[in-house]
Formats: sequence, structure tokens, C-alpha cells
Amino acid sequence: MGLVVQKFGGTSVGSVERILNVAACVREEKERGNNVVVVVSAMGKSTDQLVRLAREISEEPSKREMDMLLSTGEQVTIALLSMALQQQGLEAVSFTGWQAGIVTEPVHGNARIAKINTEAVKAQLSTGKVVIVAGFQGITEEGEITTLGRGGSDTTAVALAAALKADKCDIYTDVTGVFTTDPRYVKDARKLLSVSYDEMLELANLGAGVLHPRAVEFAKNYKVQLVVRSSMEKEEGTVIEEEATMEQNLVVRGVAFEDEITRVTVLGLTNSLTSLSTIFTTLAQNHLNVDIIIQSTTESGSANLSFSIHTNDLMETVKVLEENKAELGYEQLDAENKLAKVSIVGSGMISNPGVAAKMFKVLAENDIQIKMVSTSEIKVSVVVEEKNMLKAVEALHEAFELGQQQ
Ligand code: ADP
Ligand code: ASP
Ligand code: MG
Repeated sequence: MGLVVQKFGGTSVGSVERILNVAACVREEKERGNNVVVVVSAMGKSTDQLVRLAREISEEPSKREMDMLLSTGEQVTIALLSMALQQQGLEAVSFTGWQAGIVTEPVHGNARIAKINTEAVKAQLSTGKVVIVAGFQGITEEGEITTLGRGGSDTTAVALAAALKADKCDIYTDVTGVFTTDPRYVKDARKLLSVSYDEMLELANLGAGVLHPRAVEFAKNYKVQLVVRSSMEKEEGTVIEEEATMEQNLVVRGVAFEDEITRVTVLGLTNSLTSLSTIFTTLAQNHLNVDIIIQSTTESGSANLSFSIHTNDLMETVKVLEENKAELGYEQLDAENKLAKVSIVGSGMISNPGVAAKMFKVLAENDIQIKMVSTSEIKVSVVVEEKNMLKAVEALHEAFELGQQQ
């Protein structure tokens, strides 16, 4: 008998009818002779609704209380799904994150899973029950409820699959797999049959919301066999594996994008030798995440620095830099909002020079100005104005012929 972890996202459990559909999926897997652990998200957009409620009370609610609030969304779904399965004569039991032994580091809002104590889940599985676990939540060693960051139910599922040594982890969602780019925005986007862990990690980190980046990290590190598929259509999904076996040698496999990017520029840094380390140490100490960094030296010997951040972090970043102005030693701060990052990803890039050049040419031909660039072995990212984001994505998707069967 095998063990399968299934995960169903918000849309897939968004109504009673959908929950009954999920129950049918679980039942099918059980009838194939497998033990099943099911991880579910909060129903529909209920997490967003909870966030809105909190904002009506406070502009900056305590992170602890936010976790307390948001973790309730998933608890609704586990109970309803368990009832639906019991109604159909299947034995099922629902577990919150802490009941399932999901222990996280002591961080509110974006905690990482530190370990999973699997005894309770295993004990229930051994009696033949379907175990339904609330995604997105855990508990610290001190007994505080935490959440894993938006989209974090994927990570609960993959981490459980790794800890339980499951035979596979199926992520059921509202699209039929991982596409060459977000099919909600680009009509020519094409479903990929397979993607490598590394490519998927880049795509997820660069904005492809179909999988939580840390879920892919777990899958890669513990070699979890991961499939993304539709909860509504019985179509083959996308396999995420060591090496993408199909469609090998694709130079570019996908285009990812992310809006709400801000470029911060620090002008006239007087001590170009140490200022970089001082600035980024200070920002890191304040948990501010910096992405692309560009430094240039002026003729007078001072330096100018630009870096990109998420727009949500702008106020905090400016505050930290201004508070430490004397120590950091700079003349002026500037910020440009309404930017976006567009990235092309593909493991074939390593051995194919000229990919970045082609990307820049395509953007130039479309009158899209590039504000910042960053590259790795398997991706090239550019920062452009937000208003040009989708135009850039479409142009690149077309230029690299991603809509066509390779
Ligand atoms: P769930 O609630 O099931 O976790 P999400 O909304 O988190 O679903 O993720 C699925 C969504 O991810 C899709 O509806 C799609 O709009 C978006 N998405 C972004 N990039 C991609 C991509 N490359 N392939 C497929 N879907 C993508
Ligand atoms: N309910 C959480 C969210 O909306 C977690 C998830 O769906 O993965 O972000
Ligand atoms: Mg999701």
C-alpha cells in the first residue's frame, strides 16, 4: 500500500460543492489502495477576507494576532472535508497544524517549518483513516501558532510528504498544471509536461504563484515526486522532477513576473569600501529583503547604489536608512515606485550564450525601457515600468516561441 499526499487550494475548496468534489478525489485515491493525507487551504478568498477584517480594526495589527486569525481559515476547511468524507462512509480525521506535529521557527507571518513530529498522523493512517491537515500553519516550540506566508499550504503538503516518505505529492489547483507563463494573463500560455526542480524554484521565486517557493525547496531537497494538476479537470498535470525529461534542451522554459517593485537609489555614498556592507547589514538586521543590487562609482570617488525591494517594504526601508544616515554616510535617497520584474527561466540557458541579448533586443523593439538587470545560470530578470509588464511578458513569450509545442 502506498502513501499519497494530496493538496487542494482555495478555489478547489471554495464551496460545499467543491468540497464534495475534493471528497470524491480523495475517495478515488483511497480506492486505488493508497493511504491518503490531505492538506487543504482556506475556502476561496477567505484568507483575504480575514486580512481585510483585521485592517478594519488596525492599520498594523500584531503579527501574533494575525497568525491567530489567519490560521482559522484552514480550520474551517479541514472540518468540512472530514465531515464530507465521513458522510460518504470513509473514515477521516481532521488535524490542525499543531495536532499534525508541524513545528516552526518562532517567526510570525512567514515561519519556516523546523521539523514535523509525524507520530500522530502515522497512528491515524495505520488505522486506515484519511488524515486531513490544515495547510499554512504550525506551532513553535513555545506553543505559539504561526503561519508559513501566503500560499504556504503547498509547503505544508510537500513537507509532510517528505517527512512521511510519501510516494508522491499531488498539488490540486485551479489550472491544469504549470504553464509557460500565467495562463490567466497570457492566452497562448502552454502547459508544460515537466519542469526541473531548479527551474520551478526560479519560476516560483520570481513570481509564478502556482507553487509556494519553499514547497519547491522541500521537494528538491527531499526528492519528493511532485505533480501540479487540476482539481476539476481530469487531465495529466505537470511533473516537477530532478531533470525535466520531456522537452529537453529548451533554452527558455517559462516567463515569470511580479509587480509592486520599488527601486531605491542611494546617492553619494562617501565610503565606497565599506558602505555596501554597512547598508545591507543594516537592512538585513531589520528583516528587509533586497533583490537586485547595482553599484557605480563616480569620478569623485563616491558611489551610487540602487536596489530593488517589494513596494510594501518601502516605508520601513526609508525609515531604517534615514535613521542610520550618519553611520552610512550618503547624500540623498530616491525611490521609484510602480515597477515590475519580468524574468525568463530555463536550464538550457547555461550552454546558450545570447539569451540575455535576445531578451534585451525584444524589449527594445517593443519600446520597453529596462531599469535594472540581474542574471543567474538559468534566468535573466529585468525591472521595467509596471505599465509595461504584461506587454514585456507577451513579447518574450512569443519571441522565445513558448506557446508552440517544442
Ligand atoms: P491555489 O489556491 O490552488 O493554491 P493559486 O492561486 O495559489 O492556487 O495558484 C494557481 C494560480 O497560479 C493560477 O490560477 C494562475 O493564475 C497562477 N499562475 C502564475 N503563474 C503560473 C504558471 N506559470 N503556471 C500556472 N499557473 C500560474
Ligand atoms: N490560505 C492561505 C493563503 O491564502 C494559504 C494557502 O492558500 O496556501 O495564502
Ligand atoms: Mg497557492
